[in-house]
Amino acid sequence: MAEYDAWGLSEVSAFRAGSRVHKAHKSKMEVMVIYPFESSSTAISFCDAARTKNPISTCHLSCMGSSDIFVFKVIVVGAGPCGFSLSLVLARASIRVTLLDKADGVGSQPRAAHIFAPGIQILRRAGALGDVRRAGFVPNNATFRKADGTPIVTIEDFAPSKSPDATTVLPIDTLGKILSSHAQKNDNISVRWGCQVLDVGQDEDSAWVSVHENGGIEKVIRADFVCGCDGATSQVRKSLFGRDFRGKTWDDQMVATNIYYPFDEWGYDDLNSIIDPKDWHIVARLTKDGLWRVSYREDGRKTFRQILDDHPARFEQLLPGHPKSEDYTVLNISPYRLHQRSAEKYRVGRICLAADAAHLCNPWGGLGLTGGFADAIGLSECLIGIHMNRADQSILEKYDEVRRSIYRNFTDPVSTSNFMRVSTLDPETILEKDPVLATVARMQGDSKIRDDFDRHIYEILHDFTQYYSAGKGQATH
Ligand SMILES: Cc1cc2nc3c(=O)[nH]c(=O)nc-3n(C[C@H](O)[C@H](O)[C@H](O)COP(=O)(O)OP(=O)(O)OC[C@H]3O[C@@H](n4cnc5c(N)ncnc54)[C@H](O)[C@@H]3O)c2cc1C
Repeated sequence: MAEYDAWGLSEVSAFRAGSRVHKAHKSKMEVMVIYPFESSSTAISFCDAARTKNPISTCHLSCMGSSDIFVFKVIVVGAGPCGFSLSLVLARASIRVTLLDKADGVGSQPRAAHIFAPGIQILRRAGALGDVRRAGFVPNNATFRKADGTPIVTIEDFAPSKSPDATTVLPIDTLGKILSSHAQKNDNISVRWGCQVLDVGQDEDSAWVSVHENGGIEKVIRADFVCGCDGATSQVRKSLFGRDFRGKTWDDQMVATNIYYPFDEWGYDDLNSIIDPKDWHIVARLTKDGLWRVSYREDGRKTFRQILDDHPARFEQLLPGHPKSEDYTVLNISPYRLHQRSAEKYRVGRICLAADAAHLCNPWGGLGLTGGFADAIGLSECLIGIHMNRADQSILEKYDEVRRSIYRNFTDPVSTSNFMRVSTLDPETILEKDPVLATVARMQGDSKIRDDFDRHIYEILHDFTQYYSAGKGQATH
């Protein structure tokens, strides 16, 4: 190994027999590296070690199944579903990840629960899909209803259950626990709860975060890149752009609740969208043991106290059977403002934003969480490309450009029209007036229309590996 020491490669001794390292000529050494990319596939990269100042930190030598040399470091801020899944995918590609979260552990607020195809894809890459499928369930029918519960139109098997990417329902607190246990088993991830990021910065060679950890003194943690997945109130975004988060906030707010109530007895399906300008709401089965999500409209000016005081009357009015409070059990209640917002940029040098930290949308259609997972897939592909020396940092410019464009041209308009459908249209005439519901009504028995409908969600994804080059270290444009 001595001959490689000049390039700082003495740690190459961690290589196993079978990985190949060869010297091309004195001033230039090429290393063939076999990387674990996804669980079953490999990629091969040729690293020009002599071209770089610090080959160890840029070549990221690793080989299948070896005790790898982990020097490419990423800090992920925010251990929500997107930060966790991004961290796991990076760690499985031999990138060392420090995942920081200001909370003490996985949150238990009632939030998103429907994991659509892009979410399924990243959970597969994260190695967590099996556990997620076992803990959750694949839902069956989704029905649009009038305020009195009368069905307007039903999408049968809306998952669709035969697809490998079938939607799975699992509340994100349970999802978080599963991802957390996978992270604990992965030596490449260090999860630091109670670690609040106060600021971010960067220089030519690294990016850093300053943190308060468990009440201690402020300190700085450095890495090659920082990914801000720290949610709607992202400190990473504020450090980059101040308070500017362009877009709008809807007048209505949504109150998300988890309740036990026998909606089955009233003929409700696994997902029910109730269309009504004043009383729009969602009723969705959350677990097989009878827990449901009811998320309903409230006036945006109401305080949390007023919402708590009013909610028994709201449930009596909205829910089938008009129950009194002793007829159901509420586990959680959480009001939530609805926004359509996007950050000015999703990448500044070595610092990137993803998911809610980058953009927000109302929850109709589940594009908030889904768009976040799609970002995490894209960002993981970009960082893995850099790590493998198959792309340079310019691929992150693509990440910024493409992900912002997908928000602008897909997530924002589709989620807005989903919300307008349930909150402004007359349920009596909606089948004639709304082209989406008219399509839903026609697609029963028409497999072509159904296929197009099911494919729509994939428009939120973008394959960044297409910008990889075969070892030149340049993102192709
Ligand atoms: C009440 C509610 C109901 C919702 N319902 C739905 C729904 O029905 N459907 C849907 O699609 N979406 C819904 N959403 C939105 C959905 O939950 C989010 O899109 C999704 O959780 C975003 O995931 P994320 O990983 O980007 O961020 P988050 O899940 O918000 O995670 C961010 C993490 O960052 C951490 N953090 C924040 N600041 C810092 C800091 N300075 N330092 C360190 N850590 C920090 C937080 O503790 C948190 O763990 C809902 C949201 C809320 C609030």
